[in-house]
Amino acid sequence: MDISLTQIKGIGPARLKAFEAAGIRTVRELVMFLPKEYRDLSNTVPLCELKPGDTAAVRVRVAGEVSERRARRLLITKVYVTDDTDTIQVLWYNQPWLKKQMTPGRELLLYGKAEHKQGYVSLVSPTIEAGEGLIPVYRSIPGIPAKALRQSVEAALRLCEGQWPDELPESLRRRHGLCERNFAMRNAHFPDSREALEAARRRIAFEELLLYQVALMLFRSVGKTGVRIDFEDGAPEAFWKHLPFAPTGAQRRVLAEVAGDLRSDKAMARMVQGDVGSGKTAIAFAAIALAHAGGWQSALMAPTEVLARQHYDGAKQLLEPLGLRVGLLVGSLTQKQHRLAHEAIASGEWDVAIGTHALITEGVEYKRLGLVVTDEQHRFGVRQRTQLGEKGDAPNVLVMSATPIPRTLSLILYGDLDISIVDELPPGRMPVQTRIVPEAKREGLYGFLREEVKKGRQVYFVCPLVEESEAVEALPAEVVYEDLRTKHLADLRIELVHGRMKPADKDAALERFRTGEADVLVSTTVIEVGVNVPNATVMVIENAERFGLAQLHQLRGRVGRGTEASWCFLMAEPNPRLKFLASTTDGFKVAQKDMELRGPGELFGTRQSGTLTAGIGSLAGDTELLKLTHDEARELMRDASGEEARAVIALARERFADKLESVAVN
Ligand code: ADP
Ligand code: MG
Repeated sequence: MDISLTQIKGIGPARLKAFEAAGIRTVRELVMFLPKEYRDLSNTVPLCELKPGDTAAVRVRVAGEVSERRARRLLITKVYVTDDTDTIQVLWYNQPWLKKQMTPGRELLLYGKAEHKQGYVSLVSPTIEAGEGLIPVYRSIPGIPAKALRQSVEAALRLCEGQWPDELPESLRRRHGLCERNFAMRNAHFPDSREALEAARRRIAFEELLLYQVALMLFRSVGKTGVRIDFEDGAPEAFWKHLPFAPTGAQRRVLAEVAGDLRSDKAMARMVQGDVGSGKTAIAFAAIALAHAGGWQSALMAPTEVLARQHYDGAKQLLEPLGLRVGLLVGSLTQKQHRLAHEAIASGEWDVAIGTHALITEGVEYKRLGLVVTDEQHRFGVRQRTQLGEKGDAPNVLVMSATPIPRTLSLILYGDLDISIVDELPPGRMPVQTRIVPEAKREGLYGFLREEVKKGRQVYFVCPLVEESEAVEALPAEVVYEDLRTKHLADLRIELVHGRMKPADKDAALERFRTGEADVLVSTTVIEVGVNVPNATVMVIENAERFGLAQLHQLRGRVGRGTEASWCFLMAEPNPRLKFLASTTDGFKVAQKDMELRGPGELFGTRQSGTLTAGIGSLAGDTELLKLTHDEARELMRDASGEEARAVIALARERFADKLESVAVN
């Protein structure tokens, strides 16, 4: 099966190249290239029953002359077809060769979507089919026509016929009623029936999900017995007493969960999920204080330097009074400072090292590392997540994420982590009011902003990032900045930050905003991660339609951190997606909606979805299968020495070990 594609008839050097470009080099890999959907030709629909919105197969004959018409850059080919129950029109766009083929009386099997066009039910751009039953539709590969692709897969399947060893242990297969692998592969491509297809899909998805989750758990069990940190029972309470505010019930509960992990012999691997502003940082500092009380060092890793510095400032305020020595290690320090930082970490002079990737990438040696906290974890890969864990003696790992993820999905993405949810905001917070502002109302908005600034408040302007491919002279953020500075808000103090600036300039501008020397901060999504300015009460998001819902939610969490009423203005024409966001402040609801609308692949970046091959798009909705495989993975890992477990673990390693290194979620 690991033979070259050239064994397949019809694949010459050119097609070989095209397949390779799509990551398909062997017959096995071609068979693993599963259809993205299927056309059902088994049930043809009489034309009289065809309704707009239906996607269906129809058996018809051409009932008249073909006509062609141009509309701007479109060439529209139109023909009437009939099956005696009715006559409808069929439209194709920019397919000039069709005209010759549509001879009157020709019989056609068409598959496509019915729409209302010019008052008539019409089929728009249907495919002309030849086969029968369920026809696979593959993701298109440039340079390979759809028909040739289908034939190549068919040939590949024939070459492998009966040769797929069933790697899943038979006992496991029987327990879950999974069909045999050869059957699954054949029917995943060319299903005998709906039932056969469903059995095949379930088998392949089950295997994929199970192995993925086992692989995640393997990573975690690397540090199975971990640093055990002991402290007095009253230590968590003592920390809360020392804070300037009373903890929320959720903060108290989550810290208790963390404290329990720290004191156990197992290395903690816990993710704390909570909306922006729910007070995760205080939980992190509390955990660090507990580790210190037990005599251990901690590291706190943030995805950006700005955020690392902010945590550093916070730690100085909250942790230094408790007797912890706090240090900062970020890329922009001088060489000498780097050296001193490394020494302070190695000698144990620092009780807490706060920083960016520098904390793990520079070969830093820790004296007695007991706890690693990473903030906004979704920006780190699984591999990096565990890298720090390898530095010392399997330290405890605490991960903070402001991205609420639907429970079902966090099971797969973070199957290696326990999850705590901070589902309560500190008291006195006014929910952010979200409004959609169409262009016509822009002027009025500027007046409102001026009023807010007069009251002493501050304003964020967020602009979309520009794709590399979009050739523009100035960044949207620069354009907005110039407009505001020279025209609309010329009387206010405005700062600009974006990704192409020098880090030092960027930090200086952010600093001026933080200290209140500036009224308005114009930025790209730099501020998305963690910046905390309680006095900022208004956020204006330009081109809001270009952002995903989860991202918009994350952004608006930057305001509403104080006790003042706060606002988020989405600059866009109203649409259902944005209206939904304006109607709720619940991050989990937003995440769920975002996933429904965009599919989990997009939500979590293409690399993530690339890890799973069996159509993860359809899996997110398959709660039952997720739960089943999750439970099975846990069960298998409970006794990893069992025969079944050993077989599955070997498979999981083979399938996912190298892939997990590059998994990045964002
Ligand atoms: P997150 O990291 O979850 O987005 P932060 O930890 O940055 O949130 O907290 C946001 C703000 O709320 C900070 O200014 C913090 O000091 C404050 N805060 C945290 N917990 C409480 C609490 N229990 N009561 C009042 N304010 C709190
Ligand atoms: Mg935070």
